[in-house]
Amino acid sequence: MHITRPVLALLLVTTGGLLAAQSPAPPQPAETPSVPASTSTLPPAAPAAVSASGLAGWIVVLDPGHGGDDRGVQAGELVEAQLTLDIAKRTAAALSAHGARVVLTRESDITMDADARAVRANQTHGHAYLSLHFNRSPRTAATGAEIYTHQPASMDDAEPPDAQARTLALVRWDRVQDRHAPAAEHLADLLATALGHRVPVSATPHRRLPLRPLAGVDAPSVLLELAYLSHPGQAALAATPEFQTAVSEAIVEALSAARRPPDAAR
Ligand SMILES: [Zn+2]
Repeated sequence: MHITRPVLALLLVTTGGLLAAQSPAPPQPAETPSVPASTSTLPPAAPAAVSASGLAGWIVVLDPGHGGDDRGVQAGELVEAQLTLDIAKRTAAALSAHGARVVLTRESDITMDADARAVRANQTHGHAYLSLHFNRSPRTAATGAEIYTHQPASMDDAEPPDAQARTLALVRWDRVQDRHAPAAEHLADLLATALGHRVPVSATPHRRLPLRPLAGVDAPSVLLELAYLSHPGQAALAATPEFQTAVSEAIVEALSAARRPPDAAR
């Protein structure tokens, strides 16, 4: 992931009131060692109880991380920008087969910044936003999928910049994700479970950080780091069709579970 410069802009949002009640920031989990076992092989897949039309009426935005000039993590022949696009397309097909309408922020190898991705997502009015990435670490022992949700850096400056914003029901661009926090947290936990049935996951799969790429997205949003390309076994695994299919099936299962009951945020 990349955290880029802040943009002092306002986004006009179409729903919700100004300064909707915001959950207190959850405590940051301590960094703990990842599980070293079974990092290069897939666990036996659990049967997914997902109906064929379980996602009918839902709009899902998939964001293949990086692209164009930004290659992301590279490990030998593996390029994160290409891997995320491959998995996004595979996942889009799986989600469509279950009735969802899927929008990709990019469908080819183009350069796209975080703002453009958020704008694309917000034009779509999706029910969920998943940004797909692969990780790296100087600690070669680091392994396993991780799911990140956005944690505001500080609640101190949550007030609107002026009174007129109140009248226009403006929400600062970097507060848009905050009101989706409960649904995003729920989705992250569902993804941790569904991924854990199918691919190696970190010992603490659900993590919270201030995430510039998610802050301005007006839908429950998560950022998936699907494997550590810095780990040779994980890199080899990530390139296999079996891994990519397992990820797509996990995403279908988690979104289907999130779909019922209907998300209160929409
Ligand atoms: Zn990335």
